[in-house]
Amino acid sequence: MQEEVDAGVFGNLAHFSLEFLYLGYRERKKSWHITAEAIADLKKNWVRPAVEKAIRKHYDLPETGEIPYSGQLLVVREVLDRYVQAVLDRDSAAAPFQLVGLEVRCETEMPISLAGRQEEVALQGVIDRVDLREEEGLRLLDYKSGADKKDFPSVPSLFDRADPKRNKAVMQTFFYGYLYRQAFPTEERPLKPGLINLKDIFNPQFSPYLQLKEQGRGSGLPVTDYRQYAEVFEEGLRGLLEEIFAPEQAFSQTEDLKKCSYCPYKALCGRN
Ligand code: SF4
Repeated sequence: MQEEVDAGVFGNLAHFSLEFLYLGYRERKKSWHITAEAIADLKKNWVRPAVEKAIRKHYDLPETGEIPYSGQLLVVREVLDRYVQAVLDRDSAAAPFQLVGLEVRCETEMPISLAGRQEEVALQGVIDRVDLREEEGLRLLDYKSGADKKDFPSVPSLFDRADPKRNKAVMQTFFYGYLYRQAFPTEERPLKPGLINLKDIFNPQFSPYLQLKEQGRGSGLPVTDYRQYAEVFEEGLRGLLEEIFAPEQAFSQTEDLKKCSYCPYKALCGRN
């Protein structure tokens, strides 16, 4: 309980809180139909219990009994409350909707060609939330604790690792579009990727949707269905995997030392 609550811990707590909030709803109502009235009740009565449950899970505390709060954690609890309330305000504006799944695990195998042979690469991902708005289709939503941007200049730019502004969050949600489509090939409704980024959630203009926006252009093209981008995205993904697995392609250390500062493989690769 003394552990410092850094951005990663905060992100985990926010994820768990939102997951427990809606799981609790389903358990009580035996339904995943979410109306504005249901959200008003969640806001009034169920945010604090969900946040506390998240704290218990993260710190591996028993399900009952008092939580031994440190001063910092008390502040974090209040901040989490406010963020979750703000997400619920956005959800209320989008209601009614149907929750389709939380933490939806999708797996597939992508065929790639390696030195003239066909191989398959196992891929998987866990989508934070899938919901259905009749007028839009299935929304594949990722919660982010940061201030990730939702616009991107082109699909190939998502694979350009020399670009310091490469939009990793958009790439991740497109990847979910790919995985979902593979996991549910008969699904015909639009697959709309989106980001609920908490640092932006209090912005009055908040929207979870992605926009294809060329540099210097004021307005962009909203991404309404992953399928419209699937061909180019999957070509980029396949190219990337073929490069990673190519036996003749050596791995070399990046010259961009900034990347090393947050790299989880630093100890393995020996970069000081
Ligand atoms: S620490 Fe090593 S593996 Fe990580 S980015 Fe730097 S060079 Fe690459």
